[in-house]
Amino acid sequence: MILRVEGLGRRYGDLAALDGVALELQPGERRALIGPNGAGKTTLLNLVAGALRPTAGRIDFAGRDVTRMPPARRARLGIGRTHQHPAVWPTLSAADNVLVAARRPWGRLRAGAREHLAAVGLADQAGVTAGALSHGQRRQLELAMALAGAPRLLLLDEPAAGLAPPEVELLAGLLAALPSDVAVLLVEHHLDLVYGFADRVTVLHSGRHVHTGTVAETRRSPEVAAAYAGVK
Ligand code: ATP
Repeated sequence: MILRVEGLGRRYGDLAALDGVALELQPGERRALIGPNGAGKTTLLNLVAGALRPTAGRIDFAGRDVTRMPPARRARLGIGRTHQHPAVWPTLSAADNVLVAARRPWGRLRAGAREHLAAVGLADQAGVTAGALSHGQRRQLELAMALAGAPRLLLLDEPAAGLAPPEVELLAGLLAALPSDVAVLLVEHHLDLVYGFADRVTVLHSGRHVHTGTVAETRRSPEVAAAYAGVK
């Protein structure tokens, strides 16, 4: 097990953004996390990454209790992430963004940075300042930055948001080519992308776990249909 989440909760006053959620990921597993707006998906990613502290529950990563560990230490242990709004240093070149994200000696890494950029289709943009990249390219850059940290778990928060259809197709190819030993937890509203990518799908609704199953099971799940229809 690379990730085990038990009874995880996060309250904001009376609102339970996440309420007693359990989740287990195997090394290399491709898991999608879906659910309607406000279901608690980003909250769960932020709790696993350490950007938020839980008000209940426990998070184990690679056999260690990381529940109270600061985000930078979790990153060093192998938890990489991207954000709903790409977090890049706009005045640095694409290559320097990857170098900074890698948090390792620069000399050895300069060639590596170019490899990471090539892996996400940005080989020709290495010297371009990140602020001058398109939204889609900044998303690709953030993925290269996350991969430069050699993650064993990659948390991807709505990577298709704001992308045009050809860019979503490119993203699907990049996701399919991710290293097979890296577990991925993908939060995404674009269901075609989710169903093409995931081994299993977990569905949250109003902060609660309502379903985990294969893509086929998820497609025919009445709980999932109800959650999306707002019936429940
Ligand atoms: P979306 O698909 O719209 O991004 P989500 O499933 O990622 O939604 P979250 O962003 O995790 O949902 O939010 C879950 C709930 O927690 C929502 O009701 C949201 O309004 C609430 N929430 C999130 N952050 C805060 C905060 N800082 N203060 C108060 N409530 C918050």
